[in-house]
Amino acid sequence: MKKYFVMAFGCQMNKSDSERVAAVLEKIGYKPAKNEKQADLVVLVACSVRQAAVDRLYGRARELSKIKKINPDFKTILTGCVLPQDKKKLIGKFDLVLDLKQLVDLEKFKNYCQSWQEHYFKIEPRYSTKFSVFVPIMTGCNNFCSYCAVPYVRGREVSRDVADILAEAKNLSEKGCLEITLLGQNVNAYRPADLKNFSKKNPYKHPFAALLWEVNKINGVERMHFTAPHPRDMTDDVIDALTLPKVVNYLHLPLQAGDDKVLKRMNRSYTAADYLKLVAKINKKNPGIALGTDIIVGFPGETKRAFQNTVELYKKAEFDIAYLAIYSPREGTAAAKFRDDVPRHEKKRRRDVLQNLMEKIVLEKNQKYVGKVVSVLVDDYKKGKCVGNSREMKRVRFPGKKNMIGKIFNVKIDKAFEWILEGEAKGRNPSTKARR
Ligand code: SF4
Repeated sequence: MKKYFVMAFGCQMNKSDSERVAAVLEKIGYKPAKNEKQADLVVLVACSVRQAAVDRLYGRARELSKIKKINPDFKTILTGCVLPQDKKKLIGKFDLVLDLKQLVDLEKFKNYCQSWQEHYFKIEPRYSTKFSVFVPIMTGCNNFCSYCAVPYVRGREVSRDVADILAEAKNLSEKGCLEITLLGQNVNAYRPADLKNFSKKNPYKHPFAALLWEVNKINGVERMHFTAPHPRDMTDDVIDALTLPKVVNYLHLPLQAGDDKVLKRMNRSYTAADYLKLVAKINKKNPGIALGTDIIVGFPGETKRAFQNTVELYKKAEFDIAYLAIYSPREGTAAAKFRDDVPRHEKKRRRDVLQNLMEKIVLEKNQKYVGKVVSVLVDDYKKGKCVGNSREMKRVRFPGKKNMIGKIFNVKIDKAFEWILEGEAKGRNPSTKARR
């Protein structure tokens, strides 16, 4: 029996893709291997959104070629987010370079589907965990942010049917899934064709808010997340739906920059003031919600003054976490034509400024958790300690046992650090309903 190993890079969407790729490989007779060395076939689900991620693929290809020297039958496939120009360069480094579309075509049941995306969504994934699962609800993006390769590699937005998503979520809940993360490159732009499948009692007009309402009703599912939303599509309905009992108390809302000129060059379609207004609205509806964001430093044309505007916005929004990226031009995107005019050392300095600010703000915010009880879904265990995420997406560690993985506990916090809270379990927390 041939064995496969899937390596996923980049975002949660890629991790979700890798579960569908694994399902396809198992349907055609492969069994999972523990690591790449024990596999006959390695599939890399790549991310080419940033140049650095593409550069790493060459390193991976070199590492995998060493296995080939020991096992001449060993094969490699590169798939995922790969731009056509990268594909050309990478052919020859892997045995096959395929679009996801071509890879899922290996399945036989595509005939009754209208499009490859529809077919793709119908594949039952090989979930990597049972208690916390990614459920893609749409793919692609119509926004064309000037630095981003996603619309070119993933294509335009395609939303999955409501009926399909709810069937998958119900099936997952019956199998013991407690947490569902709804995924999409532009998740709150969800626009399904089968709006008629929303319940008549559904109070929301915006399809994404309406979907959150439907998933919230599913018994057994205790938590819902979603990623990644665009500020432009955070309508009043979506903000209101954040208060649904099972939606976690955390929102990841990409900012990218806090300066209007830079935001315009990035084609983000909002200003710094619009973003702050949105944050105020969200905080008013959901007091205590934790906020995460993405920021790119050193974008072409980002002057010292412009960067300072990002710093000021950061202080006002008081993010709990920011994923900081140093800008690098991505061939094929609109921004690649701009002059990359911020020197590398200055980009790094700006990243460090935000990193230090983030650590200061998050420590202050985390200290407010001391003495409070948070609800933690345990996902890891090491040396007598359980670790999991609270509903605010804070990592929480407490003394426990391995068999607590996959269960939700109330934990009283007694110590707070930048990236972890520590405390003691105060019993199971089977339902979130009592909390909000
Ligand atoms: S909204 Fe996100 S996925 Fe779409 S183009 Fe912008 S950064 Fe890329």
